[in-house]
Amino acid sequence: MLNSGVWHRRILNVYWTLAGIILAGQILSVRLHLKLAHEFAVSDVSRTLIVICYVVVLCCLITGEVWLRAKLKYQQQAVVVCGFIVSYLLYFIAEPFVDGAQMSLMMPLMASLIYFNRRLLFVIGGLNSLIYAAIYFMLERGLLGKALLDFLLMEVIFGGFVVMGLGIIVRSRETSEYLEQLTQSEQGLLVDRAIADKLLKIDALTGLYNHKTFHEYLDTLLEQCETNGLRLQLALLDIDNFKQVNDTYGHWIGDIVLKEVAAKISEKISLNDFAARYGGEEFAIIFTDKSPAEAFTLVEELRLAIASMEHHYAGDKPITISIGLCSYYTRSGKELLFRKTDDALYLAKRSGKNQVIICEEKKPA
Ligand code: GH3
Ligand code: MG
Ligand code: MG
Repeated sequence: MLNSGVWHRRILNVYWTLAGIILAGQILSVRLHLKLAHEFAVSDVSRTLIVICYVVVLCCLITGEVWLRAKLKYQQQAVVVCGFIVSYLLYFIAEPFVDGAQMSLMMPLMASLIYFNRRLLFVIGGLNSLIYAAIYFMLERGLLGKALLDFLLMEVIFGGFVVMGLGIIVRSRETSEYLEQLTQSEQGLLVDRAIADKLLKIDALTGLYNHKTFHEYLDTLLEQCETNGLRLQLALLDIDNFKQVNDTYGHWIGDIVLKEVAAKISEKISLNDFAARYGGEEFAIIFTDKSPAEAFTLVEELRLAIASMEHHYAGDKPITISIGLCSYYTRSGKELLFRKTDDALYLAKRSGKNQVIICEEKKPA
């Protein structure tokens, strides 16, 4: 049960409070020489019995207290049994003087309700009916002359309470099942949303980020370049003579080549870098937190790695890529960065393909 430790504590506190109130009430009554005190004083036997009852109540509560503090097993049962005994003893103490003292017998029933424990409710309800009947016929009928109707009414109240308690427990189960379903469907929605989100950002064929996401990410990073001086390089990659691959081996084989090249790109870039499928057979990589020389080394390694890949299904001919690489300089703007990188790629194509061309301004040594 949720927060069971807290509830054991609270229930035991109620027992202590009730015992305290009844004891205080009796002491007060004796002091004030009320009717209660008069009756209380009538018989020494009943006074002794009451004192014994209080001692047993105290022992019972202390046992419950130790049980909880020592964190022993079966805490729920211990609290209910403790309440059961205490409630009957308090009933004994209060019954001759207080109308409706039977209500203290409802305490353990309430506890089983708090625990939403159906079995406990039935057991306590049954025991209550039996023990109360025994008390009525063996003691109260003869000693106190209590009417049969009073007894029957109390039994009906016990029964009615058990039935209503059962209703509360069933209703609480329905509610918790409903909440569970709600949580599950909410989790399902979250997963669906995460998948839809991913699909919106990812290129379906290669698994790299798509064109739109690439630009969104680049915009954010360029802001960082302007405000925090983040280092950034852009590389545009284009597969050489890809049309030939398609024309010779078919579009389907072309797709496989695209996937393999994309996988190699993902494998080679570091966690700080961002790769996307920019267009048909073009890719873009954003390098961050690197010097131009480091970025160059990375793309050069990537170019060599792609060129050395084997493509048995595509006539065992190497697939190569041409690359344009540019560093971003503060306040130069996204458009200029793209133009210069595109120019570098164009130069790489025109001057023989399968190579990396770096933008004019600052070539790494
Ligand atoms: P270059 O070396 O100058 O880049 O020559 P190229 O043949 O690679 O370039 P071109 O622009 O002439 O052809 C690109 C080809 O890429 C044409 C197009 O059919 C193919 N392509 C674009 N997207 C896809 C795709 O998703 N799958 C496949 N299989 N082919 C694609
Ligand atoms: Mg192209
Ligand atoms: Mg091409």
